[in-house]
Amino acid sequence: MIRPAFTKVLIANRGEIALRILRACKSMGLHTVVVYSQADRSASYVALADQALCIGPAPASQSYLDQTALVLAAKASGAGAIHPGFGFLSENADFAVRVEQAGLVFIGPTPDNIRDMGDKISAKRLMIEAGVPCVPGPNHALDFDYDKSCALAHEIGYPVIIKAAGGGGGKGMRIVTQEAGLRDALSLTREEARRAFGASDIYMEKYLAHPRHIEIQVLADGKGHALWLGSRDCSPQRRHQKMLEEAPAVAIAPEIISQIGARCVAACERLGYRGLGTFEFLMEDGAFFFIEMNTRLQVEHPVTEMVTGIDIVEQQIRVALGEPLALRQSDISQRGHAFECRINAEDPETFAPSPGVISAWHMPGGPGVRIDSHAFAGYRVPPHYDSMIAKLIVHGDTRDIALRRLALALDEMNIEGIKTNLPLHRAFVRDPQVIAGGVDIHYLESWLKEASWTKDQHHGS
Ligand code: ADP
Repeated sequence: MIRPAFTKVLIANRGEIALRILRACKSMGLHTVVVYSQADRSASYVALADQALCIGPAPASQSYLDQTALVLAAKASGAGAIHPGFGFLSENADFAVRVEQAGLVFIGPTPDNIRDMGDKISAKRLMIEAGVPCVPGPNHALDFDYDKSCALAHEIGYPVIIKAAGGGGGKGMRIVTQEAGLRDALSLTREEARRAFGASDIYMEKYLAHPRHIEIQVLADGKGHALWLGSRDCSPQRRHQKMLEEAPAVAIAPEIISQIGARCVAACERLGYRGLGTFEFLMEDGAFFFIEMNTRLQVEHPVTEMVTGIDIVEQQIRVALGEPLALRQSDISQRGHAFECRINAEDPETFAPSPGVISAWHMPGGPGVRIDSHAFAGYRVPPHYDSMIAKLIVHGDTRDIALRRLALALDEMNIEGIKTNLPLHRAFVRDPQVIAGGVDIHYLESWLKEASWTKDQHHGS
């Protein structure tokens, strides 16, 4: 099917990513339509768009998740395409279908791609077929026979993890360390899966004790050509939410990453994948295990942009315009090292959200420093959405230089009026293990338990 060309894009998202997409569209000479909820009326990026339309009240269910309102807004404004950003409707295959049925372009993968990879069991099956290594465990849903599940857990070996096939956002997962906890974990995860994700399929795999979270960014044109754009390490996580990301992943031989990258590309070509995607892996003792694919733009895409020099959002839009990829794998090189800190409006000790008016907003600068944020002094952080208000991205020729620049930039950054996790970032990037590189996915949580960081870091906000 020939996809219609477009000259105007509706951005179906909010906050820093709405601004990021707006910038990419403008740099390509595309017209922009921003939609906003009543809570985002005064956001600065709204005024930067060629057109802005209010799509409903503050709750996301009545605005950013209202598919009918979004398609109507696109039609009414004369937009030819919808960019979903991340979160909200970005991985909703039914929305992608609706957009296309309305004669609009969905800036993202095909609905089939989204469905295939959105179900973690079918994704795992497809990856095994494509020769991508997966976490030990069967590639089918568990049935209701407890004895069979019990035998399976025994075969895999405890600890195991029970996961919802439709899970996301770190929800719908339970670790089981011994047989005594299995029955409850199965029924609780199934119930949670049914309620939160509308499908009760669950599966079981080996729980890896100390892995790192490594991911590969891919870009494909849906015409049989795909590329991988390097690796990222997103191991520092709290409750499965990433806090600090870097590119490339340290202390992994480039040949190993290249092999994994090539497998991801082969999988994309096999799937007829279109657009941006991220293959997520856990890496333990040098071995890689696929866990899931995100079929959208990621929060952490800027670290890859900084080391490859590629505007990933522009490439994503070019694919949606039907252009074949202009880049070859041999054109992709990586220079230096980049980090990203997610700056959240939250109490750095309790993690309680801290919405409200920002009274002072001072952003750092200097070589290699990039801020992706929609916030400003006087901006009211609404209580209705994700608490991320800025991304601080820093590049340097080496990891050491980048990390030193990051520490300085965090010190320079000052946000007043609301609480932020800046003090936590300032301490974490100075931690010897973080400086050494290669911490595992549990490191941040155990580091947080040693509350000593709070004592010496209460300068500034
Ligand atoms: P979500 O879609 O909710 O992000 P993922 O499958 O990507 O779920 O897993 C999120 C996080 O959960 C991973 O980054 C990792 O920290 C942990 N995790 C998932 N599967 C395993 C596993 N088999 N062993 C250990 N940790 C796991």
